[in-house]
Amino acid sequence: MQWEELTAPEFAKAVRETGVCVIALGVVERHSDHLPLGTDYLLGHKIACMAAEKEPAVVFPPFYFGQIYEARCFPGTITVEPTLLLQLIQGVFDEIGRNGLKKIIAFNAHGGNNQLLGFLLQASLWEEKPYAIYMPTEGMTPERQKAWEALRETDYGGHACEWETSAVFGARPDLVRMDRVPEEPAKPLGRLGHLPPTYTGIWWYADYPDHYAGDARPATLEKGQALIQMGADTLAEYIAAVKADEAVPALNAEFFQRVKKVGQE
Ligand SMILES: [Zn+2]
Repeated sequence: MQWEELTAPEFAKAVRETGVCVIALGVVERHSDHLPLGTDYLLGHKIACMAAEKEPAVVFPPFYFGQIYEARCFPGTITVEPTLLLQLIQGVFDEIGRNGLKKIIAFNAHGGNNQLLGFLLQASLWEEKPYAIYMPTEGMTPERQKAWEALRETDYGGHACEWETSAVFGARPDLVRMDRVPEEPAKPLGRLGHLPPTYTGIWWYADYPDHYAGDARPATLEKGQALIQMGADTLAEYIAAVKADEAVPALNAEFFQRVKKVGQE
């Protein structure tokens, strides 16, 4: 159920009955020339809503503030300064918890959020909170991944590519402009290839300066519908696993008991 569509009494009932909130974390950024800026958050929110229909949970309203500094050179990107971003997402988690949802699923819908969300989850051990946060680390189970491998026609990609373009077809077919797919597929330019294996802020831009990675030409509505369904089924199973979990809250409580005792014995 979608948070913003519930009345206040319905919301309170949903909190009692599910105890779980799914927040899809996407961004607003260029996706080549043929997909909308909101691709990541639109896809994430759609999959979360489909999953929560199968396995009831409260879905946070569409959320699109994330790490996307590498797209600031393109029109339409939305970013906020790094410290504000950390505080904003932390504040959102706190607000979900304040409303009584004791388990939060941070469903990442944008690769560039991986480090940010990983850090925020690590930072949950800084201070005891009335909620636990979980982040699924696979978008699809290995069996479903295999089913997708059987459907896909390209063996590389990552951004506005065959899978992502298909997925937008599956979620919002009205927003795919197949007539604007670049004629040439986008392979990594390797502009940092002279360095030993290196992480640096400009790495993704170095390989993909048009925010296009892969080949969108074989994308189809049918592939997209299958992809979206497999993503939603995987997330529904994940929600069920989180509902059943007692270990993370218990370990958090044990951990903070020990934190309080440091220096006291
Ligand atoms: Zn994307």
